[in-house]
Amino acid sequence: EISSSRESNVAKIKVVVRKRPLNKKEISRKEDDIVIVSENALTVHEPKLKVDLTAYVEKHEFCFDAVLDEHVNNDQVYRATVEPIIPIIFQRTKVTCFAYGQTGSGKTFTMQPLPLRAAQDLVRFLHQPIYRNQRFKLWLSYFEIYGGKLFDLLSDRKKLCMREDGRQQVCIVGLQEFEVSDVQVVKEYIERGNSARSTGSTGANEESSRSHAILQLVVKRHPEIKESKQNNDVNESKAGKVVGKISFIDLAGSERGADTTDNDRQTRIEGAEINKSLLALKECIRALDNDQIHIPFRGSKLTEVLRDSFVGNSRTVMISCISPNAGSCEHTLNTLRYADRVK
Ligand code: ADP
Ligand code: MG
Repeated sequence: EISSSRESNVAKIKVVVRKRPLNKKEISRKEDDIVIVSENALTVHEPKLKVDLTAYVEKHEFCFDAVLDEHVNNDQVYRATVEPIIPIIFQRTKVTCFAYGQTGSGKTFTMQPLPLRAAQDLVRFLHQPIYRNQRFKLWLSYFEIYGGKLFDLLSDRKKLCMREDGRQQVCIVGLQEFEVSDVQVVKEYIERGNSARSTGSTGANEESSRSHAILQLVVKRHPEIKESKQNNDVNESKAGKVVGKISFIDLAGSERGADTTDNDRQTRIEGAEINKSLLALKECIRALDNDQIHIPFRGSKLTEVLRDSFVGNSRTVMISCISPNAGSCEHTLNTLRYADRVK
């Protein structure tokens, strides 16, 4: 198993930055675009004032595995991030793909199409002659972590709990998994999950900015089916053995982790939880990259849930989304520093 991961030349951790274009509001406010992209590097031109109030610019340079500018479309994002990893999912690899960034930076815009494209490719692989006789099936689940609690987005936001077996396998009790054999069905599940996720899609206070949404596509190998029992989706999914999986995670807005001084108690609690999970995530990815024996999963619900994706053969893709406008400078720098530390 390890040798198969060594053979494939897909890096264990890949950090990609995506810059969105200025939006209408920012343009009408005549805000400057302060992010200059040049191949796999970028420079942030931070507007600053001296003590005597004369303006100057401080430049911050960063370098990543790839930097995608405002002209790059979602198809190109897929090809630069997930597409190269698809084949090794069939070689017992667990892949996690995160979108990180402040609210409004393009996380959901970037993340939404990826599982659809991945499912399309995975289904195509399943039908290849070499896999056709292996009784592989593709399963989809979609859930949310909100305030440290898990909710199934595909079964009326049913509250879920987690259990870990002796072999470090994470089990989310009651999570519904659906077999998906064509892409149209995947699309329907994604739309259903999205509408369960939260209300509204604009404004910094939208609920979805405070939750992590996790969509998983799991390839399982199934035992020979006995004629009599093949009707219940959930049981059939349980009967299969996980071959590989890919998780797409639309993280809570990174600025939400700073909501720890808000006047509203609930907002403070959620902010602290988000802060904890984003810190724990960074720690886990770094520990993984250094081949550390001890990975600090216990730091948050998010990292606990992802535990089985971080052990053994794993790949991590971090897509850091940034806004280009001067007004977002501080958040943009925070996002880039976070990505830099993960790298
Ligand atoms: P987030 O999920 O990080 O809060 P969204 O994905 O909702 O941000 O993006 C905020 C807005 O910006 C949306 O209206 C979205 O359509 C738009 N947007 C984001 N990224 C891009 C992009 N690369 N090109 C065009 N529009 C984008
Ligand atoms: Mg979003």
